[in-house]
Amino acid sequence: MLDIYISAWLFVLGSIFGSFLNVVVFRLPKKAFLSKARSYCPACGETIAWFDLIPVASWIALGGKCRRCKARISPRYPLVELFCGVLAPLCYLRYGFDWRLLIAFGVTLILLAVSLIDLDTMEIPDSLVIALVPFAAGAVWVWREVPLWERAVGLAAVSVPMLLLALLIEGAFGGGDIKLMAVCGFLLGFRNTLLAFMIALLIGGGIAIVLILTKRKKKGAHIPFGPPLCIGTAAALFFGTELITLYLGLYGL
Ligand SMILES: [Zn+2]
Repeated sequence: MLDIYISAWLFVLGSIFGSFLNVVVFRLPKKAFLSKARSYCPACGETIAWFDLIPVASWIALGGKCRRCKARISPRYPLVELFCGVLAPLCYLRYGFDWRLLIAFGVTLILLAVSLIDLDTMEIPDSLVIALVPFAAGAVWVWREVPLWERAVGLAAVSVPMLLLALLIEGAFGGGDIKLMAVCGFLLGFRNTLLAFMIALLIGGGIAIVLILTKRKKKGAHIPFGPPLCIGTAAALFFGTELITLYLGLYGL
């Protein structure tokens, strides 16, 4: 009973974080992040009233349209809020009230922002990679089973090969991808970083094949690799040990 109460409360809290994340994703690439401007409709410029800013519920109440000009509001906004709303209680059920809850939730939020901005602009802002650093540092204390040397190796395990590939093949990976995997490598330790990269390659490769087969992208076109890297990192952060055990089990190890 208490778990249900806490989960409901965390859902509300998480969805508010999701609402804030939407603002970050919208404003950060425009360098307008520190502007005091209230949220406004990008179509008509109308300032959005507080009662139209309630996560998920407002979008449904408005039927996905601006109250004034009726311009369509992307379902991505409520979906991000919903995702963050569900994520918070899931982190709680996974870790309980523990520092790991805070780090896992914070890291996933930043990775979501990285993914969305990479999809929008094909770039990963340095500020978001830097925002991961305190969480990576916190992970040293919280996940003590990963020794410091594993984290140091993790920092280079994926980022250095990516850097070498990027130098050999122009446009293989962006600088943002490489910096991201350096910080995530330290956060995860090298085992989980390799796992994260494997998952990213599977997802990225799968998406590329689908896009090429459905002729939505030409062969050799640039597909942002940030989102697959973020999904791989999040999967490894939450379920790394289980996934590696499962994988090695397939080979009877
Ligand atoms: Zn409008």
